[in-house]
Amino acid sequence: MVIIKGDINMSKYKCVICKQEEFGHGNNPNPISDYGKCCDLCNLNIVLPSRIKKLNKVIRKKVKKQGGVKPTTTYKDIYIYIGIISAMFFIALYIIK
Ligand SMILES: [Zn+2]
Repeated sequence: MVIIKGDINMSKYKCVICKQEEFGHGNNPNPISDYGKCCDLCNLNIVLPSRIKKLNKVIRKKVKKQGGVKPTTTYKDIYIYIGIISAMFFIALYIIK
């Protein structure tokens, strides 16, 4: 099968962030802008980092509401993991023999 790079779906758009004319699908500029499309560069450098920041804020708010972060892994869990891993190791040694 031959894949031909054509101009199917390659429409022109203007990036709402850097105002450059670009070709292609474009990216969703939310939360920087509620409308239009943004180019790949702006998506990588501006939109994605701002989404991560927004997500971090939401998580921090939730953590504050719950009254702090509680550790989900206890020492008991760690000992169980070590036990399972060493058991698997010895089983593997036994099989190799
Ligand atoms: Zn752009």
